[in-house]
Amino acid sequence: MAIVTGASRGIGRAISLRLATDGCIVALIARNADALAEVQAEIEKAGGTASCHVCDLQVSAAFVSTIESIVEQYGRVDVLVNNAGMTRDGLMLRMTDEDFDCVINVNLKAVFAGCRTVARPMMKQRWGRMINITSITGLSGNAGQANYAAAKAGLVGLTKTIAKEFGSKGITANAIAPGFIETDMTAGLGDDVRKSVEGSVPLRRYGQPEEVAATVSFLASQDAGYITGQVIIVDGGLTC
Ligand code: NAD
Repeated sequence: MAIVTGASRGIGRAISLRLATDGCIVALIARNADALAEVQAEIEKAGGTASCHVCDLQVSAAFVSTIESIVEQYGRVDVLVNNAGMTRDGLMLRMTDEDFDCVINVNLKAVFAGCRTVARPMMKQRWGRMINITSITGLSGNAGQANYAAAKAGLVGLTKTIAKEFGSKGITANAIAPGFIETDMTAGLGDDVRKSVEGSVPLRRYGQPEEVAATVSFLASQDAGYITGQVIIVDGGLTC
């Protein structure tokens, strides 16, 4: 049984479809009920099982109670994929505290709350997979994204710490750092940025959400049982 945040579109949608194909029941979390219902319908059409849970991750307490109700409903949780993310870009001198806080709340604080909440049921099962979607921006920084880079770098430290605290309980924690992936988040960057990125990525293209989903699928599987505390970069070679 897997919980996926930000499941309504982009990378989260692809992860949800992939985990359902792998045989997981998937609890889909995002803010938009209609978009979630479409993903649920797609999963069910393909023979899988999913449920929809509307929740705004700005409020950690709401996220915690959503996870608790999912765990109560299914009696367990095997995989948590913290994928939901947002940007509010701007150069640091003009970035407000509110711009900083709301990006930290969704991209980092909610992930801490989510991992802490699933830790107990996973410890009882002596099996669990926590997978956090960070970004290459969290590894190298990016002008105009002080809030997002700080949050995504924070996820790396959080993930490595979870790996150390819960490894003896059979729980693994890993992060995935995508580069430029073709979703709504990158659509706003425009054609000029796209051309320049494609020129510098060794594989000469944006990545697809399904390519990140395939990495999640592997990390969630039995085959990845001896991998924990790692950051897997999925960026077409951009940072190599
Ligand atoms: P997207 O904007 O297409 O989708 C983001 C998802 O997060 C949506 O489902 C949205 O509803 C959800 N979300 C955002 N704020 C939320 C909130 N307050 N409460 C609940 N849900 C919320 O983005 P994407 O490109 O699919 O990105 C998915 C993840 O991958 C994010 O964490 C993002 O930072 C990361 N990432 C994306 C790229 C890329 O190139 N697209 C690169 C690196 C990292």
